Amino acid sequence: MNAEENEATPTDYGEFSRLEFLAHAYAIEREAEERYIELADQMETHNNPAVAEIFRKLARVEGLHALQILDQAGDRELPHIPPWEYRWRGTESPEAIDAADIHYLMTPHHALGLALKAEERALRFFSAVAASQKDAEVRKLAEEFAEDEREHVRLVKEWLVKIPEPAEDWAEDPDPSASQE
Ligand code: ZN
Repeated sequence: MNAEENEATPTDYGEFSRLEFLAHAYAIEREAEERYIELADQMETHNNPAVAEIFRKLARVEGLHALQILDQAGDRELPHIPPWEYRWRGTESPEAIDAADIHYLMTPHHALGLALKAEERALRFFSAVAASQKDAEVRKLAEEFAEDEREHVRLVKEWLVKIPEPAEDWAEDPDPSASQE
């Protein structure tokens, strides 16, 4: 399972310059935003508005974060990094949700469970970077980002306790013909 492999990503990402770090952070937030929007659209297509709404909220949080990063870069342009040259392994950023984990009948509980894993991966990435940087400014930035992700994790957990666990037969479609996409 891909998600499981992602849990075991190495924690040594090397030294970042300030702009390099911001470019990585920007890619993480943008990808998370896009993925959450995609998931929201998908859930709407499958007439699952409760889950769609959760993903929309998360997309907004990540999108705002991405804009803040551009602010932090000021008038400097973020370096353009091709996907395969990001410091994480593979082309998916740590906060991405694996498409293989998506089920069209998934409940709000499942959706939040996936979001929680994604936010925790982002938290681990930023914490690992914060712990390994020699440059004090980059270290401080990474700590701030880790703090933001910690907040996202808290938020998702808070929603998760309010949302009931699904029944055992949640994946059984009462009307399969309605769900061909
Ligand atoms: Zn996040």
